[in-house]
Amino acid sequence: MKSSFLQPSVIELDEGALKNNIQFLKHRAKNSVKLSSVIKGNAYGHGITNFLPIAESSGMNHFSVFSANEALIAKKTQTHPETDIMIMGMIRDDELEWAIENDVEFYIFELDRLEAAIESAKKMQKRARVHLQIETGMNRTGFEEPTWKQVFETVQKNKKEIKVEGICTHYAGAESVANYYRIENQNNQLQKALNLAKDILDELPPVHAASSAAYLSRPKMHYDMARIGIAQYGFWPSRETYMQIMKSLDLDQGEDPLKRVLRWKSEIMNIKWVNSGDFIGYGNVYLAGRRMKIATVPIGYTHGFGRNLTNAGYVLIHGTRAGVVGLVNMNMITINVTHIDGAKKGDEVVLIGQQGDDEITVASFGEMTNNLNYEVLVRLPTTIPRIVQNGD
Ligand SMILES: *Cc1c(COP(=O)(O)O)cnc(C)c1O
Repeated sequence: MKSSFLQPSVIELDEGALKNNIQFLKHRAKNSVKLSSVIKGNAYGHGITNFLPIAESSGMNHFSVFSANEALIAKKTQTHPETDIMIMGMIRDDELEWAIENDVEFYIFELDRLEAAIESAKKMQKRARVHLQIETGMNRTGFEEPTWKQVFETVQKNKKEIKVEGICTHYAGAESVANYYRIENQNNQLQKALNLAKDILDELPPVHAASSAAYLSRPKMHYDMARIGIAQYGFWPSRETYMQIMKSLDLDQGEDPLKRVLRWKSEIMNIKWVNSGDFIGYGNVYLAGRRMKIATVPIGYTHGFGRNLTNAGYVLIHGTRAGVVGLVNMNMITINVTHIDGAKKGDEVVLIGQQGDDEITVASFGEMTNNLNYEVLVRLPTTIPRIVQNGD
């Protein structure tokens, strides 16, 4: 019995694009600023297990995940023994021993978790590698100002159990200048915490605060490490950040220094002609106004191609844009290819990414908001196979 068949679509990861992006990003800061590759959300839809090894071979040796279960996947996937994994969010007390045993770094933002980490470290007879998250104004997680003294004194007193690998915070929207003062205030709060830490701790641990947006647009917020998510995958955190960087580098529009790593493709499974006056697909959603050539593509909302793209989405065939006609079905879409001579069964269809000189951007998936890139990417189903395309 055959063990598996090809799926109707695949996601290709372009290793060359990733190397390009990492080089570009590294050149935006001093050499001493370390980059942590953020791979939460299944590596923004790229697939942790596929993405992590190519990021390692592109020079990344620090990875940030959201939760302990993601850390476990990353741990099992890493190919370089010295690669570090950091949990920025969810870890339960009963997962602490695993983290300590496996040298996995984790955020602490509550006193009870700090106590639990000290207990677990004692039990394991091994130091816990922790990052102390400071509340500076995001108001999500982080130690609040009245607790800072106690936190620093506790880790100082328990340095046999606790190794502070970082002091960190997270900015509440550095991708928009509308948040300028809020971010400035956060940075001032961070400074205040760092001054206190300097007084209490033997030495100041590495500091990290910036994600892609602050890293690209606010050099004074680089500190020792930046946690880079969206930009390494080749997407700008916002239009504003893009415009600012393009201007500062004196680049023309269209000369995007970031290259998209991900490309989602399928193929034409059927071609047919319909007559003027015929409806296409379910109901009366699309009426052919003339004789039309229709290609069926085996992609639908089950694969993350949303119903909101009905009569609205586009794909690329032969390097030419072709529009969705009729409803997006569970497993199929119908595409108008009347204008594409020679379009035939088996031809490549690009749903996201480049083909020829044209590109379907993630943003064209019905977006009007700044951060949609993130959401479209992480929603790409884990069931679609990811395939690494070697850049060389
Ligand atoms: C997601 C995340 C990042 C990365 O953000 P990008 O905008 O994708 O670079 C950095 N830090 C934390 C705490 C995050 O949750």
